[in-house]
Amino acid sequence: MSNKSATASSLLPDNIAALAAYSSAKSEKLSGTTWLNANESPYAKNLELSIEDLNRYPDPQPQLVIERYAAYTQLDNENVLMTRGADEGIELLVRTYCEPAKDSIALFLPTYGMYKVTADTHNVTINALTQALLLNGSVEEIVTAVASAKLVFICNPNNPTGSLTPLDKVKAIASALAGKALVIVDEAYIEFCPEQSATALISQYSNVVVLRTLSKAFALAGLRTGFTLAQESVLAPIRKVIAPYPVSGVVASIAAQAIAPDAITSMRRQVTILNTLKAKLIDWLEASDCVLKILTGEGNFVTLKLADRNYFKTALAQGLVMRAFTLYGEDDWLRISIGSEQELEQVKIWLDGLQMPAATASLAGKEVS
Ligand SMILES: *Cc1c(COP(=O)(O)O)cnc(C)c1O
Repeated sequence: MSNKSATASSLLPDNIAALAAYSSAKSEKLSGTTWLNANESPYAKNLELSIEDLNRYPDPQPQLVIERYAAYTQLDNENVLMTRGADEGIELLVRTYCEPAKDSIALFLPTYGMYKVTADTHNVTINALTQALLLNGSVEEIVTAVASAKLVFICNPNNPTGSLTPLDKVKAIASALAGKALVIVDEAYIEFCPEQSATALISQYSNVVVLRTLSKAFALAGLRTGFTLAQESVLAPIRKVIAPYPVSGVVASIAAQAIAPDAITSMRRQVTILNTLKAKLIDWLEASDCVLKILTGEGNFVTLKLADRNYFKTALAQGLVMRAFTLYGEDDWLRISIGSEQELEQVKIWLDGLQMPAATASLAGKEVS
């Protein structure tokens, strides 16, 4: 090790030195032809770009985007903050509301990985609760377990299980935690079940925050645009913490087109198609002996347990990239994003070609060749 790098690492705070590199769906350098590993939309957009005025700083919160997103969510402009993806919303909430080495956040595992990554980078403690508690526990049990956590992350629908926390329960939890914690409802997949949105709670509860993104149903993962929705009293301090010019003018112009009324209509049509394709995929998975469990929840993905984790490698060899997961301590789970009909055909071909492992086959009373 050179002297220089030895010096740099000795400068690191302990919580940063202890970080593992975050492994996102795209950071794993996989090669493939069919990409169903990052819950992206198969629909690519045609957009008009006028790149002028790049000598000027952009509007910190582009007016047209804020107005259109407020109209889409039936909120007021002051309730909408535009961010670089929902991921930046998560980070801003932790940076604004949590004191390092003192405060904690609560989350319900298994869930989206960025809550933990963000807390770790800011030296904020994690109160790791379970989806089972969130879904089956009473509001009293949940609030007791949340204890003194300042932020409570409810991913709804939950990635990667697809499970839904009923709105009444979100509301009761928010009510019980009023003045004690912010309840952050991550609605990255809400367009696939829009009637479940918690946005209507915002006017009534000053501790409800909703996170949204254009990365999933709006088919703009590459744009990096998200929204944090809450009462102005919650957003005001975040507006002091966020970078002065977080959103480039180019991004703002694309985002404004993507949430224009006719674009929203087209997004809804695509969601209907994707939900239909998902039902078809679930039928195929149910018919396969090589799939042991299927979590059939909401969202543009299906998570399942394979009879043999090597099936994942078989898929990769065919150019079919899906997301392998360790869930409930088992490393043979897989999440498949709902792609186009042609992409899902590749999943069918893979499924049809799988051989049952000997142990499972004999359990099922099937002949092994
Ligand atoms: C994809 C995803 C996000 C991230 O959204 P970006 O806007 O792309 O940062 C946030 N939360 C959940 C649950 C997601 O699945």
